[in-house]
Amino acid sequence: PRTLVKVRDLKMHFPIFAGLFRRRVGEVKAVDGVSFDIIEGETLGLVGESGCGKSTCGRAVLRLYDITSGSISIDGQEIGDAGYQKLRPMRPQMQMVFQDPQASLNPRMTVARIISEPLDEHTTLSKAEKQERVYELMDAVGLNRDFANRYPHEFSGGQRQRIGIARALALNPKFIVCDEPIAALDVSIQAQVVNLLEELQDKFNLTYLFISHDLSMVRHIADRVAVMYLGKVAELAPRDALYSKPLHPYTEALLSAVPEPDPNVETRRERIILRGDVPSPAHPPQGCNFSTRCPKVMDICHQSDPDMQEVEPGHFVACHLYPPTTKPTTKNMVASE
Ligand code: SF4
Ligand code: MG
Repeated sequence: PRTLVKVRDLKMHFPIFAGLFRRRVGEVKAVDGVSFDIIEGETLGLVGESGCGKSTCGRAVLRLYDITSGSISIDGQEIGDAGYQKLRPMRPQMQMVFQDPQASLNPRMTVARIISEPLDEHTTLSKAEKQERVYELMDAVGLNRDFANRYPHEFSGGQRQRIGIARALALNPKFIVCDEPIAALDVSIQAQVVNLLEELQDKFNLTYLFISHDLSMVRHIADRVAVMYLGKVAELAPRDALYSKPLHPYTEALLSAVPEPDPNVETRRERIILRGDVPSPAHPPQGCNFSTRCPKVMDICHQSDPDMQEVEPGHFVACHLYPPTTKPTTKNMVASE
């Protein structure tokens, strides 16, 4: 298996300004040293509560921002420090499906124009070729070709998300960041859109970073899962390992609130209620960033920030409960070889 996306020590800090003279008074560490790999054709789920930095992380990986520091490589090309000129030819390969199809589609453009916009920008296809491509894409996402000249408001939420997906597919991308792609949809159609994303993944060999706060949905779609808390990855593991044997106290707490899908499983987890609120990313706690809320906090947790380490093959965790091993930490975020 080939690593398509490699992210190392990614930081996205936003300055905070205040006062009459807009003096810089601090910074929000929205993403604060995140590392992961994504293998070609897999889905990496990125989960966490709202405000943990997962969306910012997804956008930063696609370089929709100038990042603060770190390395991002897509298919062997380093784009962490790339400027507009270097990014432009890379854009077709890496796309995004947004949370709110309503907000991400121009209401004054027809479906055909929305889907062909990336073709206008990045290809030299003729008008007829573009039209054919639009029809192909509408077929692929299950939209009726007859609706090509309609406007977004004439569609349901699920259909609008299909338009967004068709647009993301227009340039044959390899890698798609799906940012809460179903969160704005009715529960009754969420599964349809998730199934469509899976179908398209198989058909076009797509690699996904699937961002969601919905742990049940991520369990369904992801091959591996990274759990984020306050700008950092707390734990990263193959899906089954993470859901059946979470190691990080934060993952344990998150999962304790998720209903067990298998009624035969007798050992129901007891619901873990975390004390306090998530601290502001402008003032993260000293040491481990979970130390203010962790039920298992120890003295050392207030003093030092635990490194990510590989506790079992492919199972990474950043927590002092797991004493340092000799294994490399972020050298290979899939599994040690
Ligand atoms: Fe809890 Fe300490 Fe582990 Fe942080 S390092 S999650 S505070 S036990
Ligand atoms: Mg899959």
